Amino acid sequence: MNRPHSRKRFGQHFLSDPEVIQQITDLIAPSPTDHIVEIGPGRGALTMPLMKHRVRLTVIEIDRNLAGAIRSQFGHEPDFKIQIQDALNVDYAKLIGADHVRVVGNLPYNISTPLILKLRSHHTSIQDMTFMLQKEVVDRLCAVPGTKAYGRLSVMVQSGSQVEPYFEVPPLAFEPPPRVTSKLVRITPQLSSLSAHAEALLETSVRQAFGQRRKTIKNTLGKTVSHEVLTTCGIGLTQRPDEIDVETYVRLANALSVG
Ligand code: SAM
Repeated sequence: MNRPHSRKRFGQHFLSDPEVIQQITDLIAPSPTDHIVEIGPGRGALTMPLMKHRVRLTVIEIDRNLAGAIRSQFGHEPDFKIQIQDALNVDYAKLIGADHVRVVGNLPYNISTPLILKLRSHHTSIQDMTFMLQKEVVDRLCAVPGTKAYGRLSVMVQSGSQVEPYFEVPPLAFEPPPRVTSKLVRITPQLSSLSAHAEALLETSVRQAFGQRRKTIKNTLGKTVSHEVLTTCGIGLTQRPDEIDVETYVRLANALSVG
């Protein structure tokens, strides 16, 4: 394949270590009945093994040059589709349709957090998501209360899914090597106990609480939510946002949605 140059602004670090590619493919464990959506196929390091497993594959690539090369390699396959677009602007409801898809990708670091948050609203149509991310982002996704990494991303993602960290991948597995260590994570959406209204309230409460993470709840959420509701949900007014667990934030969102 003609190999277009790596473009920094699209976070292009291409996987070049065959062993790591095999490990990631094994982790995804593709099956011919899967409809997989790959974000950022790049030069096809993961696309190729996925196609070998005869899955139905839709890839989303922002870079026209890379997309052209991928299309000439796989465009003739009946179960292959490519969307040349920013993954943050894709209409996922339309793309997924009535399917139950699996999402995978060695994600460019600048879009990983907004993309994961965007995909939350499509959780009922997503079987699982296997991503390679900057190690620090995986740490934030998996973080527990009382740690520095625990924040808005941890609460929002853990409130609707199971999050499992896997193995680390060193910079030298990529061409060109990034400055950071990467890590695999699997996010598996769970049946939500939150109504759409409660989801929206969770989003605003968590944003408000962690917007000033050094302040106590009394001085953040306590300004808009009655102290009685907060204490009934098990939230102490002198607590800081990172001391409150995911279940408690969910309880608060449910209480606010009926109140
Ligand atoms: N999957 C390939 C691999 O593992 O070698 C490439 C991974 S590279 C880290 C990220 C890929 O995502 C690049 O192909 C880049 O062009 C693409 N990309 C960057 N921003 C994107 C966006 N907003 N939407 C879709 N693709 C994007």
